[in-house]
Amino acid sequence: MPFQTFETIVGHNSNIAGLRAAIKADKPGHSHLFYGPKGVGKATFALAFAQILLCKENSKNTIKSCGVCTSCQKMVAGQHPDFINIAMREDKTRISVDQIRDLSAFLSLTPMESQWKIALIDDAAQMNAQAANALLKTLEEPPEQSILIINTYRPGVLLPTIKSRCIKTRFSGLSQDELIEIVTNEVDSSNENIKQAVALCGGDVANGIQLCESGVGEERGLFLQEMAAIGGVDLSVVCTMSEYWSKPERFANSMLLLKAWFQEQIRGSVSNNKGAESIREWLSLAKWADEVMGEAMVVNLNKRLVLESLFIRVARLCGAKF
Ligand SMILES: [Zn+2]
Repeated sequence: MPFQTFETIVGHNSNIAGLRAAIKADKPGHSHLFYGPKGVGKATFALAFAQILLCKENSKNTIKSCGVCTSCQKMVAGQHPDFINIAMREDKTRISVDQIRDLSAFLSLTPMESQWKIALIDDAAQMNAQAANALLKTLEEPPEQSILIINTYRPGVLLPTIKSRCIKTRFSGLSQDELIEIVTNEVDSSNENIKQAVALCGGDVANGIQLCESGVGEERGLFLQEMAAIGGVDLSVVCTMSEYWSKPERFANSMLLLKAWFQEQIRGSVSNNKGAESIREWLSLAKWADEVMGEAMVVNLNKRLVLESLFIRVARLCGAKF
């Protein structure tokens, strides 16, 4: 993803205005908590915020990163000596106490090229207990020229003592239009594919981009059409569907589409007051589908037969008489 600035970020306008005002007032704050749904751009936002604070051309009149000074260039290249980004290491399951100690040591140093030392923890809910306690010490006595940004989509997991010491910025979910705009900027694909991928992505930009690249959006229209009619077709149609959707290049997308489709049916049963029995039937079928398709992905099951038995059960639940 190209580096974003407060000018290019889509959505989150009130958060941008709030932090711009804080910078203008010379009170950028020592400790920030950015929280809100997964995949809406909290880390992207944090990087843009840090870039303004570090930019050599930023002034009170502009509150803007210039994008061309050495500081901006280093930030975009991920090599600014006054900025550190802490995330869970790939081979680990949590952010460790050693990482937090490194972060605290980094923040206590004098800035090398700017006014601030800035650290981002992404996602802070991945800290283990020891790491969280170590962070607390830094939060209690933040170094003079330090700014710490922690972000998470699971604020409930963080220690209350950590949260209470941070300036909180809440991120809302992005609208469908905003998601479409962001994915369109990232992926060269048809409008229809982007629209359908966004409808499946659960509000998560990275997920939307991945779905779009998988081409799942192109398939969704046909899939929904077939599923809408499945209660009234012959068994031979179900067999043709199974053949089509079990093709190796299509099977992973079928799983995604089915998963989203089952969620829709369950939601529909709940909101249309179809009764507990109907909801139970959909839930149990969805669970079974999840298991059997998951298995078919990893072990050598006949994918066509898996889909066939699945589509037959769906068809019967929708009223088919075979
Ligand atoms: Zn700059």
